[in-house]
Amino acid sequence: MEVPNSQRRYCPFCKRHTDHEVHRVSVSKKKRALAEGQRRFKRKLKGYGSFPKPNPRGREKPTRKLDLRYLCKECGKKHTVGSGFRVKKFVLVK
Ligand SMILES: [Zn+2]
Repeated sequence: MEVPNSQRRYCPFCKRHTDHEVHRVSVSKKKRALAEGQRRFKRKLKGYGSFPKPNPRGREKPTRKLDLRYLCKECGKKHTVGSGFRVKKFVLVK
């Protein structure tokens, strides 16, 4: 999928259509390693006490969800639209 680098979009801050730059944000995997649920799960995996839970297994999704940010060239603020979408190939075109 090819998406133009600059688009004319609605800016929620300017409250009208302005020129926007499209930025792709790399998805960082937020892992709450110290969350109570994670600690309990680790304890459970060690196997002491009751039957240990099996490792979470599943099919990997073939695509990743895209995270796009739109930077308004007039006010300089960024905003998103929707919650992203999945495509195999994504190219920003001038
Ligand atoms: Zn704006």
